[in-house]
Amino acid sequence: MKRQLTEIAAWLQTDGQNMVGVIANGVSIDSRTISKGNLFIPFRGEQVNGHKYVEKAIEQGAAAALWLKDEPNPPAHLPLIFVDDAEVALQEMARTYRDMLDCKVVGITGSNGKTSTKDLVASVLSPYFNVQKTEGNFNNELGLPLTILSLEEETEFAILEMGMSGFGEISFLSTLAKPDYVVITNIGEAHMQDLGSRAGIAKAKFEIIDGLQKGGKLFFDADEPYLLELVGQHTDVEAISFGYSKNAALSLKEIESGDEGSHFNVAGLLNGEFTIPVYGAHQVKNALAAILIAHEVSVTDGDIRSALLNASLTDMRMQPVIADNQALFINDAYNAAPTSMRAALEFMEETALRDEKWVVLGDMLELGAEERRYHEELAKQLVQMKLKGILLFGPRMKWLFEKLEKEGVGARLTWSEKEYDPIIEEINKYTDKNSIILLKGSRGMALERILQGL
Ligand code: ATP
Ligand code: MG
Repeated sequence: MKRQLTEIAAWLQTDGQNMVGVIANGVSIDSRTISKGNLFIPFRGEQVNGHKYVEKAIEQGAAAALWLKDEPNPPAHLPLIFVDDAEVALQEMARTYRDMLDCKVVGITGSNGKTSTKDLVASVLSPYFNVQKTEGNFNNELGLPLTILSLEEETEFAILEMGMSGFGEISFLSTLAKPDYVVITNIGEAHMQDLGSRAGIAKAKFEIIDGLQKGGKLFFDADEPYLLELVGQHTDVEAISFGYSKNAALSLKEIESGDEGSHFNVAGLLNGEFTIPVYGAHQVKNALAAILIAHEVSVTDGDIRSALLNASLTDMRMQPVIADNQALFINDAYNAAPTSMRAALEFMEETALRDEKWVVLGDMLELGAEERRYHEELAKQLVQMKLKGILLFGPRMKWLFEKLEKEGVGARLTWSEKEYDPIIEEINKYTDKNSIILLKGSRGMALERILQGL
């Protein structure tokens, strides 16, 4: 966004001072990461009052700042816009700016796979269009408007991630972003506490249709019964499905993992074989959404194929990494919840990439009252996987460790509560070029340190 301050004040139906001739180029809510020309937005919280940093932000290159009307002593020499509420102002600016852009917006939600799908969609479109996407995980009520305000006028496609923790949030984000296409990846167990049930979670994700533009389309995983049901109830929405289901508009045939990644076949709206440079049926499903969107905007099958082969994904999502000892790590250490854990273990069970299979699993956090059961339940899947080693890390993994000890599992079994070293030692001693090792745990467990510590 590059706009005159006077124009922005008019968007917000408010006034300011020293605005004439000043142009704001993008916005920032962090005085430490100001870019030249930014409009600085000070937030006032219990701990910090951002107004303290307004002078400094402008010294560091900001063109101007917002200032809360009830905050005393606005510095008389600075260009400021006076507002009632910083968050609301940020959102209103984004809403107005979005309406001025004529780029297509893709909105992506789901319990898992938002960032991966965003990366895949951006990868298939960027060789052929001017594409911008959400940076990192800027997917909430602040991140989304910041992302929208970072869009350039030349951008043809904005690929936006939308996250939530309760009802109403996705609806809010979607009506702000007004997507032309929306994707719902999967329905997991995250935020079960707030949303009551998987049906509740599905309903909350489905709010993404609230802002869908006229003539817009929904792409969704046909293997999620709750989504199928919701689609059935919303016949006014044009919905296009993908997944294993034979009835899906794009149905997934066999997947095979090879050195370059996952090879898979699709049938339906498009046919043929594709390859993505990451592993796991869940990542392949994310790719199906990307294929459908690219197809929708007339990218040819061949162009989709070559773009996917070279797709660049954010690190630590089913990412292949060859260690110094030549063992193949599948680094999925970004995060873990029961659904994504199951998906990663299924990949490990099926893959024929290496003979000796190991898993390094860290605690799954934020699961609420049921956390013990979710950890113990993994035992069932693990005992049938013919693993060479199971290395568990974190206090909650003790539950799984004890369960596995009791049931007896024909694998090397190690548990460490806090230290990475016992796990690193096992890996150094017992793995080599014949080994494939899954690394997966919640963000707080930082299992990537194991790779760094080898
Ligand atoms: P966040 O809510 O933290 O932003 P996200 O929805 O953006 O997460 P990703 O970062 O893409 O999701 O992936 C998170 C984890 O979920 C990774 O371990 C990834 O391998 C796994 N995952 C990705 N796609 C799916 C999917 N469709 N179904 C289940 N798990 C998935
Ligand atoms: Mg994400």
